[in-house]
Amino acid sequence: MKYVSTRGRSPVQSFSDILLGGLASDGGLYLPESYPQVATRLAEWRTLSYAELAFEILSVYVDDIPAEDLKGICDKTYTTQTYRWSRDAAKAKDIAPLTSLEPDFHLLELSNGPTLAFKDMAMQLLGNLFEYVLDKRGETINILGATSGDTGSAAEYAMRGKHNVRVFMLSPEGKMSAFQRAQMYSLPDANIFNIAVRGMFDDAQDIVKAVFNDADFKARYKLGAVNSINWARVMAQVVYYFKGYFEATGSDDEEVAFCVPSGNFGNICAGHIARMMGLPIVRLVLATNENDVLDEFFRSGIYRPRTTAETHVTSSPSMDISKASNFERFIFDLVGRDAAIVRQLWREVDAGGSFSLADGPFAARLPGYGFVSGCSSHADRLATISDVWQRYGLMIDTHTADGVKVARGHRVAGMPMIVLETAQAVKFAETIREALGRDPVRPAELEGLEDLPQLVELVDASVDQVKGIIIREC
Ligand SMILES: *Cc1c(COP(=O)(O)O)cnc(C)c1O
Repeated sequence: MKYVSTRGRSPVQSFSDILLGGLASDGGLYLPESYPQVATRLAEWRTLSYAELAFEILSVYVDDIPAEDLKGICDKTYTTQTYRWSRDAAKAKDIAPLTSLEPDFHLLELSNGPTLAFKDMAMQLLGNLFEYVLDKRGETINILGATSGDTGSAAEYAMRGKHNVRVFMLSPEGKMSAFQRAQMYSLPDANIFNIAVRGMFDDAQDIVKAVFNDADFKARYKLGAVNSINWARVMAQVVYYFKGYFEATGSDDEEVAFCVPSGNFGNICAGHIARMMGLPIVRLVLATNENDVLDEFFRSGIYRPRTTAETHVTSSPSMDISKASNFERFIFDLVGRDAAIVRQLWREVDAGGSFSLADGPFAARLPGYGFVSGCSSHADRLATISDVWQRYGLMIDTHTADGVKVARGHRVAGMPMIVLETAQAVKFAETIREALGRDPVRPAELEGLEDLPQLVELVDASVDQVKGIIIREC
């Protein structure tokens, strides 16, 4: 399989080449040059374990890692030991178990990994792929990133202890929850560097951008990223759409809907790809919080990224985005993979503007991709968390609540609706207390997490101070 850029002006590359890179050199995102059709293989895949299924799906996209090595990486990644925090311990062996709220209304548990958010599903695989490819090449990498919570911790737990990877993770001082801080800062591994920046998340992200823009520094210190535009993360997420489909259906021609709490469009982009591969998904329900950039697009055909000032700080913070960094991948498919059109649209976006597909030829094509959408508010979140607790006795987190709320508005009689459960309630205790008047349940092993010694270096919002730490440690 070869990979092409959505902007059409970067060289075609192999999987291992794009694994360690970020954006394509023309500013676009890499996608496979075609989507392999797998509808005839569903019967054979239905009974596989998660690791076996992952191997089959990855095999259609990865042709430059020998099959037995790729199999080993999947087996090592998708273990009950790593994904052990299921609300029903007996189901942990499924890695991504399905929990039914009602007939044809399900949650797919994706947050049973070490950081209790779905990002572990892909990031753990990324850690093992990085280690493997770097070993083969005799190289090392220094991952630099900024986080407001879930991504940074998932990256650290995926890369900890890997001898050819260091992680430098910036976070805004005092802006994450106590649980999130403890998760990251308590890691004792010598290859993990937590850097708290005096400022906001945007300050931290600006520093990361500035360091990456220094091409000499980037090359000399072998800097890399693991952000949500990484193709391998999207690919790993495709697997659980198949898993959820098999759990929710009894035969291979049944049609289903998925509802996905969305921010950067990474998770639901994987659903789009699963559908393009022939999985019978007829509806992809995109749920946003108050940051409704994507809901607006699917309702109106207008994509208008917001300014930082227009971006709401919400109680489902991992969906607080001003623009959706993976969205360009879907638009590339929608416009018939015409890179010239993508370049033209993103010329507007990159200049701070917007675009509309409402009146052109693409509006008519859009319904064919199965997307519908809705948004949710803080009040909706509280009501949904409370309702799901009272009605089904299940505690859900704030992001999943956005999904359940929006999914309820898009159910079709007789068709399974699968809501992706993207985090566990314990990560967002404050809102759970507000909704339920009680503390969230916490896995016993994580009792006292906040009391562990923490390792973090505090710096000013200064590019030079961050560079100084990288120079010192490499
Ligand atoms: C990252 C995240 C999301 C949003 O996923 P995208 O791939 O950015 O759309 C939703 N919920 C949780 C808990 C997350 O961590």
